[in-house]
Parts: sequence; C-alpha cells; structure tokens
Amino acid sequence: MTISDAESTTETRTPEIGRIPLSTPDVGALEEEYLLSAFRSGWIAPTGPDLTAFEAELAATVGVRHAVGLSSGTAALHLGLLGLGVRPGDRVLTSTMTFAATANAITYCGAEPEFIDCRSDGNMDPALLHDALRTAAGRGRLPAAVVPVDLLGRPADYDRILPIAAEFGVPVLVDAAESLGSLHSGRATASMGQAAAVSFNGNKIMTTSGGGALLTDDGDLAAYASYLSAQARQPVAHYEHTEVGFNYRLSNLLAAIGRAQLTRLESMIVRRQANRAAYLELFAGTEGIALFGADNPHPDNAWLTAVLIDDEVTGFSAEELGKRLADHDIETRPLWKPMHLQPVFTGCVMHGGETAEALYATGLTLPSGSALSPSQLDRVLSVIAEVLCGGPHR
Ligand SMILES: *Cc1c(COP(=O)(O)O)cnc(C)c1O
Repeated sequence: MTISDAESTTETRTPEIGRIPLSTPDVGALEEEYLLSAFRSGWIAPTGPDLTAFEAELAATVGVRHAVGLSSGTAALHLGLLGLGVRPGDRVLTSTMTFAATANAITYCGAEPEFIDCRSDGNMDPALLHDALRTAAGRGRLPAAVVPVDLLGRPADYDRILPIAAEFGVPVLVDAAESLGSLHSGRATASMGQAAAVSFNGNKIMTTSGGGALLTDDGDLAAYASYLSAQARQPVAHYEHTEVGFNYRLSNLLAAIGRAQLTRLESMIVRRQANRAAYLELFAGTEGIALFGADNPHPDNAWLTAVLIDDEVTGFSAEELGKRLADHDIETRPLWKPMHLQPVFTGCVMHGGETAEALYATGLTLPSGSALSPSQLDRVLSVIAEVLCGGPHR
C-alpha cells in the first residue's frame, strides 16, 4: 500500500456525514510516515531506537528526567504504584470522579482504593483529602499513596494536594491520563508528584493506538518500572528472576506513532480549544447551561468539553440532550460514573460524595476531538441549537 492510498483510506474513516464520535484518533500522513520508517528500520520487536527517542522527547515535553514507555496508561498507574511501594493490604486514596482504570490499578497491587469526593471542577477536594489523612494518621494506618486525577484534562489542585500529602509523608502518583499538555503554575501536570501516568489510548489527547508512559524525575523509580515492565529480568544471560514482573513494554512501532503525535500535540490542543470556544459561544446567554470546569483557573488541554445542565431552568436534562444528539448519530456521554457508585467498588471507604453525584447527574461530554471537521462541528452545534430553541422534549 502506498502512502497516498492510505491517505484516502484515512479520509473515508472520518466521513463528513455519519456518526460523530466524542474523540477519535487524529492521525494522518505524518504518523504513517514515522510508522513505516520504524517498520522499515527492522526494529519491530519490541524495543528499539524509536522507543528510546520517544521516551526522551516525551520527558522533554513534560519537563521531567525520565519517561518509561508502556503498553497502557493503566500499566503506568500499576507500575507507578508498585514503584512507590504499594503492597497487598495497603490503602490508596484517589478521586471518585475518574475512569475505572485508576481504581483498577490500585487493586492490581492487592491494595484497596479509598475514594474522595471532588469539588465543582470534578477534581479531588483537598479539604476532604486532608480529613481522610488526619483520620488515617489517628488510626496509625496511613495510605500508601495518593492518586489525584486531572479530570477531562483540568489540573487538580496541586498547590494544596502536594503539601497535604507531604505533611503525612504519603507519596503522590498523578493520574494525568487525560491531561497531557495541561499546565499547573507553568508546569506540566504530568511533572507533578513523585511520578505521573499518561495514556496514549485512541480517545486521548494524543495516541499511539494504545499505550502509556510513566513520567518521573526519580531515576530509581523509572529504572524499577522499566525492569518490572519487561518481566523483571536480572541482567544475566539465563534471565534470573527475583520477583514477579509484567509484560508492559511499549513497542518500538507504536512509539514511532507517538513521536509523530508529539510534534503535533500543541496544534491538536489548539483545535480542541477551538471546539470548546464554539460550544461556549453557542451556550452564551443560555440560562441553566454552564461549561463544566470553568471555575478551574489552570490552562488545560481542553481534552473533552462538557456542560452541566440544570433541567429546572432549561426544561431538558443532560440525558435528554444526549438522546437528541444520539438521534442524529452524535456521540455524547455522561461524566465518568463515580467509583463509589460502581458495583465493583461497593464496600470501599468513601469520603463525601454529593458533589460527584450531582455532577454525574447533570454533566454531558460533547464531541471534542481534534479531528472533528468544521462541518461535523456545525452539525453538532445546529442540533444543540434546535434543542435550545425548544425541541419536542420541552
Ligand atoms: C484513559 C484513562 C486511564 C487509562 O489509560 P489506558 O491507556 O486506557 O489504560 C486511566 N485514568 C484515566 C483518568 C483515564 O481517562
């Protein structure tokens, strides 16, 4: 297949009509060129120069010393937790408002998640974190780690979370899976805490089709994660193993896609910010609809744009707007269903919960991808405008 064949295939995969998804991979000729070049270099399985270069470029982009390329963001969370010393029977404090992967990774370590409610921007409430740590300290049973999440790309409140965790000597692993490119006080969110996990899943701000990375300034932590990711082999010819490892390495071919995506990260963020601006313009002056997270002061990557809908004012709920858009083959979703409401995590300790529950009931994420075409965005905007002007559900 030549590159020009593939270009036309890519075009038919993002048609002007048909289904409009929330967030699709934004890839094209550049990614194809990098991938083919890695393939032709012969470095297929599994490590190679593109992986090494990707790790260095990613670390430089984020502003940390080390990046370890891994098979997923979930793997990065898992190895990050193990590297910080999380062991069976431990507790780990995390935000209830997150994707299940955060809590799953905690359980992979044999530890138990303990959930903390959010503030109105969907991120961990530092006051509740402080209370939870004080209570745990009083019982002489501090958690092994704290895992804040940057919901939909908006930075958590690190000015408060990091000093609170430090006060109790508990390490922080940042779940920055959604926030690559977001800044907190001029620093990348993925450079916060002792380490951070990012994701390159297909729906994220940039993709390697599937992948993730652990980012840290701590050379020992990076080396340990790297070693665990390749079956914990001791460096001897017969592969001596002194602990259980994993097969979590990112492949050289996928890293090549990541290198191309990294060069386009800024421009993809600009596209997502433009999507958000278009929604804001549409909703300006509409009572009862607010941009979710607008009270968060930090510059973010605008990964997913979401709105909060007060149905008593608008006459329609988030769910009803979602249904209307679905009728037009436009994908939306509620915010993540809070972890403390998930059947799999009933029985876990929860601190607060009302804010997350209210956000879950009223929030709706809208198509936000950087590959969204102007005509696709127009289609979404015109269906929403119809609903705003009083569609059948009023
Ligand atoms: C996507 C995501 C993950 C997991 O990343 P994968 O690469 O899909 O494993 C973890 N946490 C959050 C908050 C995410 O959105």
